[in-house]
Amino acid sequence: RPTKQRGQNFVIDANTVRRIVRESRVSADDVVVEVGPGLGSLTLALLEVAGRVVAIELDERLAAALPATIAEHAPAQAARFEVVLGDAMRVTEVPGPPPTALVANLPYNVSVPVLLHLLQLLPSLERGLVMVQAEVADRLAATPGSKVYGVPSVKAAWYADVRRAGSIGRNVFWPAPNVDSGLVAWDRREPPATTATREQVFAVVDAAFAQRRKALRGVLRGLAGSAEAVDAALTHAGVDPLARGESLRVEDFARIAEGLAATGAPA
Ligand code: SAM
Repeated sequence: RPTKQRGQNFVIDANTVRRIVRESRVSADDVVVEVGPGLGSLTLALLEVAGRVVAIELDERLAAALPATIAEHAPAQAARFEVVLGDAMRVTEVPGPPPTALVANLPYNVSVPVLLHLLQLLPSLERGLVMVQAEVADRLAATPGSKVYGVPSVKAAWYADVRRAGSIGRNVFWPAPNVDSGLVAWDRREPPATTATREQVFAVVDAAFAQRRKALRGVLRGLAGSAEAVDAALTHAGVDPLARGESLRVEDFARIAEGLAATGAPA
């Protein structure tokens, strides 16, 4: 029985599975990480095209059943498959050669933290294609100025160029979720060139969007300690003190963090 708590909605439509694999552009050169293989429908399709697939599954029973599913439906590919029992938000390593692609129908309740964790953990990941809740897909791919631009958009942009890659209705799942889904495709990019650390930049991003209606000047006070430090950081960054986080690119956040670090602020 699927559990809602673990975001278990299985894709039962073969066309959708084929579409995900096609959009992912995975080839025999790729080592694919799949999160939440579930009953293995996407896993089997990935094994047809990928060099190797490592699947991370939180549910003990599903993880235990997977090798037998692969052995039954794709015996020739079984040697190129490995399942890891664990939480994809917390794994600290993935066994085998460095993964090059992430392809997954992500558990919807944790899709953003899983994606950000793996982007950080696995620099070898060059690209990915994930299915998430439609609203989350919009957020991840949003650009400055959009109403849904926020923390997930900026943090994802630190690692990757992200785009929407289509919509998926709820009837391709069992059980059918209450929301529509969307495909998100990404390609790895160099993070913005900055002397600030990623943690410092992300702290500014979190602060800016915790009060998204407020001007940066007010929002950053807590982080910087003093109004003077905020002004100095915003001047360094060339950012209007009256601007709001929703208008800034990840590069702007990086420069603000750099300015705060220069003033000795405890970001
Ligand atoms: N890939 C399958 C499919 O498309 O039919 C299942 C997708 S289902 C939306 C999400 C899967 O992720 C479930 O199998 C669930 O047990 C698993 N899962 C949930 N939370 C997880 C986590 N934190 N780490 C790894 N797997 C997780």
